[in-house]
Amino acid sequence: MKPPAVSTWTQKTAPTPDRDIWLSMKRGLRGRCPHCGEGKLFRAFLKVTENCPSCGEELFHHRADDLPAYLVIVIVGHIVVPLALAVETSFAPSVLLQLAIYLPITFISSLLLLQPVKGAVVGLQWACRMHGFDDQSPDDMPVLDAAGGKTPPETR
Ligand SMILES: [Zn+2]
Repeated sequence: MKPPAVSTWTQKTAPTPDRDIWLSMKRGLRGRCPHCGEGKLFRAFLKVTENCPSCGEELFHHRADDLPAYLVIVIVGHIVVPLALAVETSFAPSVLLQLAIYLPITFISSLLLLQPVKGAVVGLQWACRMHGFDDQSPDDMPVLDAAGGKTPPETR
């Protein structure tokens, strides 16, 4: 018996299972695949692996770009600046002593936060099915080329 015909529209608009945003971001924060939570997300310090070594999920679709760096600046700035103001108003140490304390704190905490924050951003993009993470996206959607221009589907 032949299965009932399903229109292309129905196939492309079928509901997709929800992805838990907070769980995906937490897994990314730990440097793990947002899909399975087992495979490593990074193949180098800030290089996201192409596919999860554990479940095979495609991870190259992410476009974190500069967002992790901006978020790290916001986080570190909200820690170091109030600390510097509190120490300055209470103790007024010399400028050299303050530079010797705050510059290493800023540098080291930024390096420590960059990978986890990028992992969380990749997890967020995966959970929200952004960029290429939606396996149900229509084939006739224009794709962005490397320069950011749209390529119409008929020329692909
Ligand atoms: Zn995985």
